[in-house]
Amino acid sequence: MPKAFNTEYLLYIDFDNTISRGDVLDSVVEKFAEGTVWQVLENEWASGKIGARACLDGQLRSIKATSEALASHLDSIIIDPGFAQILKVTHEHNIETAILSDNFDLILNPILKRFGFSHIACYSNHLERSGETFIPSFPYWNKDCPGCAHCKKTHFIPRGEDVRKVIYIGDGRSDICPSLNSDIVFAKDSLLAYFTKSGLSCIPYNDLTEVAEKLTHLIYDNITTH
Ligand SMILES: [Mg+2]
Ligand SMILES: [Zn+2]
Repeated sequence: MPKAFNTEYLLYIDFDNTISRGDVLDSVVEKFAEGTVWQVLENEWASGKIGARACLDGQLRSIKATSEALASHLDSIIIDPGFAQILKVTHEHNIETAILSDNFDLILNPILKRFGFSHIACYSNHLERSGETFIPSFPYWNKDCPGCAHCKKTHFIPRGEDVRKVIYIGDGRSDICPSLNSDIVFAKDSLLAYFTKSGLSCIPYNDLTEVAEKLTHLIYDNITTH
């Protein structure tokens, strides 16, 4: 019989610039986008004129790449070695764990496979290839939260009968919505800046090795930031 999940915690982690070193989606768009539409969209998103879905939809429709070219680019991506340590901790304690990403399955799957993480649940936007072009879609878009492309909180809100504490690990703008709905937040970069500016509590980190260590303490000492 499979062991029951830990009844105290549930862990979600972002992918780009959290698990991966640097932002993989940005690197794909910058490398393969044709023309300058992607930059116009990026600026409109950054200034709040358009939401993330409109931005990503236009950017992904503007890229062109052969399977070989994309695969070779994805082969150059490296990930934070601390991710394996986090998985070791969550595995030891049977903490249900999933990746929540604003990236796309077609881009994430080869990377997760190469590092041996295909068995980890991963929810993302969806991308299909059509020749050398791509068709994005957004299965987790939430009409009540139009700023998100993949509204990550929909995987754990509403909580219903689930009383487990949600641990969230992230770095950027798409992590704000789920973080505001989590119990324990590990934050770096712009997510940390947002939490600091808003006077909200979170656990700052630099890399995932640090998160794995703090996570171990948190589980053993049952320390929370709330
Ligand atoms: Mg990120
Ligand atoms: Zn949202």
